[in-house]
Amino acid sequence: MKRESSSNEIMSDEKWQAIINNDDSYNNQFFYAVKTTGIFCKPSCKSRTPKKENVRIFQNAEEALSANFRPCKRCKPTNERLPDNEWVALITEYIDKNYTEKLTLETLAEISHGSPYHLQRTFKKITGNTPVEYIQEVRINTAKKYLLQSGRTVSEIAKMVGISNTPYFFTLFKKMTDATPAHFRQLQEREETK
Ligand SMILES: [Zn+2]
Repeated sequence: MKRESSSNEIMSDEKWQAIINNDDSYNNQFFYAVKTTGIFCKPSCKSRTPKKENVRIFQNAEEALSANFRPCKRCKPTNERLPDNEWVALITEYIDKNYTEKLTLETLAEISHGSPYHLQRTFKKITGNTPVEYIQEVRINTAKKYLLQSGRTVSEIAKMVGISNTPYFFTLFKKMTDATPAHFRQLQEREETK
């Protein structure tokens, strides 16, 4: 009899229903991981229902771990607590990949399966910055690169780094670099022609 390889376990309707309904009678029968967040959960997890196409099913926690998924902080599928530094690493990785999207403390908390309050405190404790400060840093550093390496306008660059409000981008850039975006670009050009 042909058996499906467990790491490619098929998502049946039954399993999908169990995930949608947070059905705890399926706990320990399977685990589900979400590709976009890198987290895996018990069927009963109360976190936001993921998109079906992003879900991978595992028979046990070890398989999910060896496929590089991390245990959810909320439902604790390995019955151990995810260490704070790993949790924060997961969130910074998510920000690094998704800074062009709209990101708030609430969405990050939802994605990382924690409360906004706990996320804010833990992130600051581990990195010295709040999640929002970290997002701003990633965005402004990327914007600097685009200002120097492309001829795009400031508002185009603002959009490319996830800030659709150009005046806000302008203010944030100035606050973090002590120069306006245009001035920053000019200063660097002058350096190069010296
Ligand atoms: Zn979970």
